[in-house]
Amino acid sequence: MPEKAKVHYIHPIPEAKEYDPFFEATLQFEKAANFLDLDPWIYQRLKYPERELTVHIPITMDDGRAEIFTGFRVQHSTVRGPAKGGIRFSPNASISECKALATWMTWKCAVVDLPFGGGKGAVICDPLKMSENELRKLTKEYTLAIRDIIGPFKDVPAPDMFTNAQTMAWIADAYSQACGHLEPAVVTGKPVHLGGSLGRAMATGTGLFFVLEEALKYLGLNFEGRTVAILGFGNVGSSIAKLVHKAGCRVIAITDIFGGIYSEKGIDPFELEKQVKQTGSVVNFPGTEPIDNDSLIALDCDILIPAATEGQIHRGNAGQVKARIILEGANGPTTTEADSILVDKGVLVCPDILANAGGVTVSYLEWVQDLQRFFLSEEEVTEKLEKKMKKAFHEIVDLMEKHNLPMREAAYVLAVGRVAEALKALGRAA
Ligand code: NAD
Repeated sequence: MPEKAKVHYIHPIPEAKEYDPFFEATLQFEKAANFLDLDPWIYQRLKYPERELTVHIPITMDDGRAEIFTGFRVQHSTVRGPAKGGIRFSPNASISECKALATWMTWKCAVVDLPFGGGKGAVICDPLKMSENELRKLTKEYTLAIRDIIGPFKDVPAPDMFTNAQTMAWIADAYSQACGHLEPAVVTGKPVHLGGSLGRAMATGTGLFFVLEEALKYLGLNFEGRTVAILGFGNVGSSIAKLVHKAGCRVIAITDIFGGIYSEKGIDPFELEKQVKQTGSVVNFPGTEPIDNDSLIALDCDILIPAATEGQIHRGNAGQVKARIILEGANGPTTTEADSILVDKGVLVCPDILANAGGVTVSYLEWVQDLQRFFLSEEEVTEKLEKKMKKAFHEIVDLMEKHNLPMREAAYVLAVGRVAEALKALGRAA
């Protein structure tokens, strides 16, 4: 008999000295590895990324100063297809964060059954303090620095925090100039006139909405009159805010990096979006009171949507959660310790690798359209997205009920199982 995997998952969960995203991602993987009783070589292959690249990029700033920026691209897995995952510009970016986000992308693509693996990139910078010209130069130089390992059949980046369709257009251009022809399929989340997909801008929010619709039905509830609190009002937070508002929910609190707003009567996200376009923040929206992240997390509401950054629901505040549903718009917003607390409280946590998979699902449709140079209508895109999201939701619920697992564990069992099967079939045992 071959030796079985030595799974290092320990109960109670070991304490990390400080929040470490890759440590969290590993704990989640190990629970599924344990459940699936993975062969040792499959366990080891999937526990660590296939590749981590660090680059240093000199840029001449607008004032003539030469500054050096550090960037990363991590490919966790290419077993089921090209690595897929966003690029983040952030002063807090780190290799551990990229490793975690790349790992989560592998599981996310597998949960919704896309022919992709997982990757993630980042540049350590403060995009809010940089001019458009500086961001353009940085994006193009970063692309050239990682060029050898990206491409339509190798690794396909997309937007993430503080990057957008314009950033993707710059990446497409730098890559295309280097290969001598336009290659739109190298990135997704591009402007529509450059091969972007209709429906991509709202896709993560739309996918969240489909998952929430099924989660509410699962609990015997509907949208009408439900109260919602949202952490983060960027691409993901603002999209889901508008959709739940239109469906009849009351959005009572929203925070962003500068502060937060609360109104028992409800906040109109369409009006708020106009203010954010002008001032850059939700703060001081008329008719609201200030609120901070921890108070928002502890609010008496039906649905809590973390849509900002990792680790914001932790053991220090998870006990205060009163929501019945947590819909994870962000990647890794809940620590493993917090997750156990929430499961014990009976909160239905719709995990990131399912809930926010709408973005990568439409990215997949964009990639297919770019490769074929044949484009779908927005209705076709939304219909395909709805089918994918709802199918994945029900596959996870079936596993939850069959094995009496919390939703996150069921999603991991589905995802890790799919990647492990592919790896086994490829026969890559060393
Ligand atoms: P974004 O840059 O458009 O918006 C981020 C928002 O979070 C902003 O409102 C920002 O002010 C806020 N924020 C940042 N730090 C905060 C803090 N400490 N407290 C409160 N608010 C804070 O980014 P996005 O694209 O909306 O991504 C948000 C999250 O969703 C990230 O975890 C990202 O990885 C994840 N995600 C994004 C997509 C996508 O398609 N954009 C897809 C899947 C997952």
